[in-house]
Order: sequence, then C-alpha cells, then structure tokens
Amino acid sequence: MSAINSSEYGVCLECGANFPKTHPSCLHLFEKVIVVLSELPNHRVELRMAMDAYALQHSEQFCPHQRSIAIHLMGLCWGVEWKGEIRIAKAMQKWLEHRSDMPQIPPPFISPFQDIMTVEEVWKLIEAQKLEDVPKKVHMWANTVWMSWSEQHQHVRQWISSAIQKYPNEDQSI
Ligand SMILES: [Zn+2]
Repeated sequence: MSAINSSEYGVCLECGANFPKTHPSCLHLFEKVIVVLSELPNHRVELRMAMDAYALQHSEQFCPHQRSIAIHLMGLCWGVEWKGEIRIAKAMQKWLEHRSDMPQIPPPFISPFQDIMTVEEVWKLIEAQKLEDVPKKVHMWANTVWMSWSEQHQHVRQWISSAIQKYPNEDQSI
C-alpha cells in the first residue's frame, strides 16, 4: 500500500514513530488510533491505555505538569497491572481529587532512534484493516511504555495502594 511504502516521510523526534505523507505527524497516527478504539465496543480500558502511553511518550508536549505525568503513569499501571478494574479507577480518581501535591518525576531518557514500540505499530494494524488485533497491540504498546518508566514503578504502585486503602468501597458502576 502506498501509505506504508511512504513511511520514510518523517520520524517523530519524541517517540521515534515513522509517519507517512498521508499522516504527516505522529499525532495524526494517534488520532486515527483513538477514533478506532472509541468505535470498538468494550474497549474503554484500551482507549485510556493508548492515551496514557502516547502522552508519556510525548511528555514534553502532553504532560505540562508533574501531576499529568503522575496521572498518566497511574493510568498505565491500572491498565497493565490491575487489568482496568473499575473499582480501582474510581478509587484513583477520588484519591487524585484530594491530592494536589505530586513529586517531581523525571521522564526516562529514551532516544527516538531506539527500537521501542510506538503508536505506529497500532496504526499499521488499522491500515491493514486488522481491527480485531488493535486492542491486543495497544496492551503491548502500553506495557512497553510502562516498562520504560520502571524507575517510577514503586511510587506509582504506592499511590494506587494508597488510593485503594483510602477509598476501598467505591461504586463499581461507572
Ligand atoms: Zn511521536
């Protein structure tokens, strides 16, 4: 397909994704992924994971405050380690509402030329019309991004445990 063949058009200097002429930035690939995930039934967890993974791979642009980094990291941990359990999301949300201070979290240094999974791989599945494989790929992508922030895992797990302890009986409906 021409879109795939022209993938040499540009490289995102933040995440390293290659983008074609038809989608002249990595953000265009992401927007496409978000549209597809929003339309797939029962994939709200993957939608959230894709948003968190993308934001953390573009933290300069999408995480203007320490708080945004913390929120996206909690979102990834929730998806990857807590399998998107609704009760936990509710507890996290409540906990965040009552916590304004967050520690400084330096993003890990990852060269855009390092071979790390990006939104490009999810987008390629969409281009190939393999929509049924998209949620699984989003999990792989989110897991890769979560692993790249491994130095912060302890903090993030601690925040989630504290949220669960403080708000153990949050409503299970959303
Ligand atoms: Zn990018």
